[in-house]
Parts: sequence; structure tokens; C-alpha cells
Amino acid sequence: MHAPLPPRKTIALVAHDNMKRDMAEWAEFNHAVLARHRLVATGTTGTILQHELGLRVHRLQSGPMGGDQQIGALIAESGVDMLVFFWDPLQPQPHDPDVKALLRLAAVWNIPVASTRATADFLISSPLMDGAYERQVPDGVEHLVRSPAP
Ligand code: PGA
Repeated sequence: MHAPLPPRKTIALVAHDNMKRDMAEWAEFNHAVLARHRLVATGTTGTILQHELGLRVHRLQSGPMGGDQQIGALIAESGVDMLVFFWDPLQPQPHDPDVKALLRLAAVWNIPVASTRATADFLISSPLMDGAYERQVPDGVEHLVRSPAP
């Protein structure tokens, strides 16, 4: 079956500590586009985006305290349309199982995911960003697919 990704998307943003500078620079460069969408982020990432860039962000728990799992839960109830997740490829994290679970759910629910800055650049400049998109989701989850928020 298909589920809609609306023109005004909910974008989840997460950056591990060594990647937060990258995230802040990327978000600053793409400030105008990001400001057109709803943003949700793990605690510290969200604080940086809010305070350094003045973006409106719904902040969840910090990643190691459950923030990744909160974003995973939102994905499973169609509350996140896109994930920008700059995970650290060079350092193990105390919450590695949560990181893996988040990436797994994003794949299960077929939402667009950027794990590197280059991919995030390609994604955010896609013509599909500001349009509706019908993504394929697993069969049998009709009752769980929410209509997009207005
Ligand atoms: P943070 O969490 O934004 O609270 O640092 C990110 C993470 O480590 O998953």
C-alpha cells in the first residue's frame, strides 16, 4: 500500500556529538527550506538548531536518554516524513542499539533518510521536497497510517 508524504513535511534531525558541527552548518545553509517544514530533533541537536539558527524545533529527549527511540516511535505512527541522521562512523555510542533500531524503522517505513551531509544536500534539494509523494509502506498497516497534519 501507499502512504502520503505531504508538501509540508515533518523532518527529524539527529546528530551525534562529533557530527553536530556538520549538522549546524548544513542546517544554516538550508535554513530557508527547513523553516518551511516542521522540525523535530533529539535534545541537544534541537537545542543547537533552535538557539544557534533560530529554527522552531520540537525537542525530544537527548539521544542516549531515549530520543532516538522517540523518533522511531513517531516514524511507526507516520509522524515523521524524513530523517536527517548524522551518526558518527568513527566512534561507538552508548546507545548503539537505539541507533540501529531507528535506522531499521526508517527503512521499514520507507521514509527518506540522509546519513551523510552529501546525501542530505541531495535530499533537501530534491523537487519532491515541496510536493506530495506517495511512498510504499508494508501491507497490512492501513489502520496505522495517519493522514498528514494540515
Ligand atoms: P542529542 O542526541 O541530539 O541529544 O545529542 C543525538 C544522539 O546521540 O543520538
